[in-house]
Amino acid sequence: MLKMEGVAASPGVAIGRAFVLDAEGVRIRRRYIDHDEIQHELDRFQKAMESALEDIEETESTVAENIGPDYREIFSVHKRMLQDEQLKGQIRELIADRLCTPEHAVAKTLRTYHRIFLREAKDDYLAQRVTDIHDVEHRLLRALLGQKQEDLSHLQEPVVVIAHDLTPSQTAAFDPKKILGFATNAGGKTSHSAIVARALKIPAVVGLGNVENEVSGGEMVIIDGHQGVVVIGPDTDTITRYEERGRSIHLFEAQLVKELHDLPAETLDGRRITLLANIEFPSEVKVAVELGAEGIGLYRTEFLYVGAKKPPTEREQYEAYVQTIKELAGRPAIIRTVDLGADKLWSGMQEKNPFLGCRSLRFCLRHMEMFRCQLSAILRASVLGEVSLMFPLVTSLEELREAKAVLRDVMSEMRTDGVAFNEDIRVGIMIEVPSAALTADSLAKETDFFSIGTNDLIQYTLAVDRNNQTVAQLYSPAHPAVLRLIEYVIETGRRHGIPVAICGEMGGEIDYIILLVGMGLTEFSVTPAMIPDVKKVIRSITYEEAKAIAEKAISITEATEVLRFLRKEARRVFPQHEM
Ligand code: PEP
Ligand code: MG
Repeated sequence: MLKMEGVAASPGVAIGRAFVLDAEGVRIRRRYIDHDEIQHELDRFQKAMESALEDIEETESTVAENIGPDYREIFSVHKRMLQDEQLKGQIRELIADRLCTPEHAVAKTLRTYHRIFLREAKDDYLAQRVTDIHDVEHRLLRALLGQKQEDLSHLQEPVVVIAHDLTPSQTAAFDPKKILGFATNAGGKTSHSAIVARALKIPAVVGLGNVENEVSGGEMVIIDGHQGVVVIGPDTDTITRYEERGRSIHLFEAQLVKELHDLPAETLDGRRITLLANIEFPSEVKVAVELGAEGIGLYRTEFLYVGAKKPPTEREQYEAYVQTIKELAGRPAIIRTVDLGADKLWSGMQEKNPFLGCRSLRFCLRHMEMFRCQLSAILRASVLGEVSLMFPLVTSLEELREAKAVLRDVMSEMRTDGVAFNEDIRVGIMIEVPSAALTADSLAKETDFFSIGTNDLIQYTLAVDRNNQTVAQLYSPAHPAVLRLIEYVIETGRRHGIPVAICGEMGGEIDYIILLVGMGLTEFSVTPAMIPDVKKVIRSITYEEAKAIAEKAISITEATEVLRFLRKEARRVFPQHEM
């Protein structure tokens, strides 16, 4: 039995057999072999090499015939790789000496090459070789797995997925009936696959560093998404203990929902807080409302694009918005324009440093047709309910003005065409980069509301990638720089008379709720599952008390101390948080 600790990404307990995926969603079977299997496995590897070569030759002649002989060069590179004695020798050595399965040996060797090329790729030629290595690896894996290749869409029984990393689109395609939970080497609490896991209610632990190499396919695994723990090969006692734990957490949450459902999110001294939900899919609205959401504070519309081959049509987008609005039955919704890029990729997007690249609003402003199409869909839907529009990742006043100019232009076109829309639609922005936070006073004059996106604000303020497990320890909402920016934005919004909300994951973390209320925040938009817990904390304190706690927290100079202090206060009012 092995216990590993990572980042608790999505709550719940999952117990089941492991399904180990490599980066492309291919299952890698048992990773070690017995001594007497060496020759058989070496033969299997040899056959796979031959079959991959045949496969390349076949594709080569088809392509040459259909497109022209110039493309032969691509395939000769692949062939040379497969014939490379050094490469073959390394793989054979892993099988014979280290008793790796051929699949594991191929993946391990080619990924080492992949990493070296990626590091050294200073020109286009080398960068292209990185893709070639990928191709060769997958040809070989396909040849090795042959008919045995399994993918997630053909699962016979529910499994726990173990992977190096999962993209948001892979996670979004998970069927919660078949995927009990997942654990990954990479990722952080605010990575989008974690966010999607919470939306789908799939327990998950991420940022484990090396879980992929510790688990064999078929092994029993426990995922504890509350404490960020993964147990590999648990004994019967441990399984029973976790089953009970899962049941009692479930029971506690159900009781909390029942107890709080008809009560407002209000402090003990009567300060009313608006509690909204973040969603990725319209289908989440129903549950969010059942859990007590007063509306949707962030609809991440990019999940209509992520994983899709072509952008959704205006009609498809409009239908998704209509579904959301209808389910809300009069409650408000803030629809965010697409935040593509970074880790939410749409086919064809590729950048070396995507978090600082052409993501989000920048991407929209350079893909005008797509942007206008979405604005038009939102505007058309705006007559059906209380809809507001929100731009993500605004970094300057010019950018906000440019986006608003496009919006005005779309509106004017719709007017000419006689298409109805809400002329007074509220237009807000997300504050998720320090430049926006620090210029909040000028932005406030030209926008209707702010929503603080702490997931990005933290990563851009602290220079810590929100998806990178090696720096996950440094990703702290409690850092004094983050707190000062948040405090400044709330205060600026108040001075300018515009509402300020939080929609980053920090707003749903028990440790930070009292602090945010004390800083003067009156609107929280959180993962639906967290609504009852957030409400419970709000209803357990007075505003005066929260203000004093916030004041004290802001005066502390180290993030670890801030968190220690806040955690103590949170435990005092919400001891069940310990579960
Ligand atoms: C944020 O950055 O805090 C946010 C809510 O947006 P996303 O997580 O989609 O980047
Ligand atoms: Mg963001």
